[in-house]
Amino acid sequence: MGNNHYRRRRILVTGGAGFLGSHLIDRLLDRGDEVLCVDNLFTGDKSNLDHLYTHPRFEFLRHDICFPLYVEVDEIYNLACPASPIHYQHDPVQTTKTSVIGAINVLGLAKRLKARVFQASTSEVYGDPSIHPQVEGYWGNVNPIGLRSCYDEGKRCAETLFMDYHRQHGLDIKIARIFNTYGPRMHPNDGRVVSNFVVQALEGRPITIYGDGSQTRSFCYYEDLVDGFLRLMDTGRDFTGPVNLGNPIEFTIRELAEAVVELTGSGSELVYLPLPSDDPTQRRPDISVAEAKLNWRPKVQLREGLIKTIEYFQKLHVETEIRNEAA
Ligand code: NAD
Ligand code: UDP
Repeated sequence: MGNNHYRRRRILVTGGAGFLGSHLIDRLLDRGDEVLCVDNLFTGDKSNLDHLYTHPRFEFLRHDICFPLYVEVDEIYNLACPASPIHYQHDPVQTTKTSVIGAINVLGLAKRLKARVFQASTSEVYGDPSIHPQVEGYWGNVNPIGLRSCYDEGKRCAETLFMDYHRQHGLDIKIARIFNTYGPRMHPNDGRVVSNFVVQALEGRPITIYGDGSQTRSFCYYEDLVDGFLRLMDTGRDFTGPVNLGNPIEFTIRELAEAVVELTGSGSELVYLPLPSDDPTQRRPDISVAEAKLNWRPKVQLREGLIKTIEYFQKLHVETEIRNEAA
């Protein structure tokens, strides 16, 4: 580190072998911190951390946060939880346990250590929102008994726990409500829309649009998001959030499909499949709180981020083909 005055922190990142966690760890190590990554590798991949196993300030611990954890750290980022609908619906009971029991364990740890603790919450706490764009004061429109509920309600309960530990025990907490984020290291088969469309386009398979493709999402590139995490974590103790972190520029899913086809130069056709149940019809963050409190606003445009994501999946595709040929 160029900055000699930087105080090195010991930081625990749960879910650090996943898409966002591994990028967060890169940033923390770059700025000079020590990182302990805890992950049960349910959806994460150790290869996301391949470049770090010999790093002197990095340590990996395979552990399920549904069980208590006894370690010594200064700060905690709690990201552990499957994030894509097909992953979190694969074992919905485990998803709720990870969100709720996992949060209790992480909060208990933070309480003993008097450590600042960050929660990766989600725009899913708003459900299928009836106000648009979504502001933090909106309480949401969530089905408590649907296929997405294990995730949505699990994350809502985790927010409740974070706020109650803050009120009841004076815990120093930060809650980020993350909107759709994409980029390199997304799991190629996790069913999320950006990875699905890019992989389908690169393989020349049909692009699967669910419903008529008029539903909207706002896509944030991971670099912008991780920058928001670090800014939130460094705000004063009086600011707990929740704060929306996401890109406020909204696209229909059909527009996304068209952009992916154009940027990959793919001959893939667009096909229309049934819309999954409880699929939100629109989603866009109001980021005025993040702008005011964190001085944060995403910089990376969708096309720019898509180009980098396409390059990543292209490389992954070539590597897989080489491995398959060698086998
Ligand atoms: P991901 O699936 O790539 O990463 C999640 C990680 O958590 C994986 O490495 C997984 O193995 C690990 N994990 C799951 N259950 C665990 C458990 N019980 N104990 C220990 N580790 C466990 O997903 P991601 O996109 O990197 O998401 C990270 C966090 O951000 C999640 O909490 C997710 O809910 C939240 N989030 C992400 C997005 C997004 O668009 N990527 C949007 C909203 C919220
Ligand atoms: N989607 C789609 N085709 C796919 C995957 C997803 O049309 O192959 C749609 C999905 O129905 C949703 C949107 O894209 O409307 C975003 O889905 P994703 O699973 O990425 O995240 P969500 O925001 O729904 O959690």
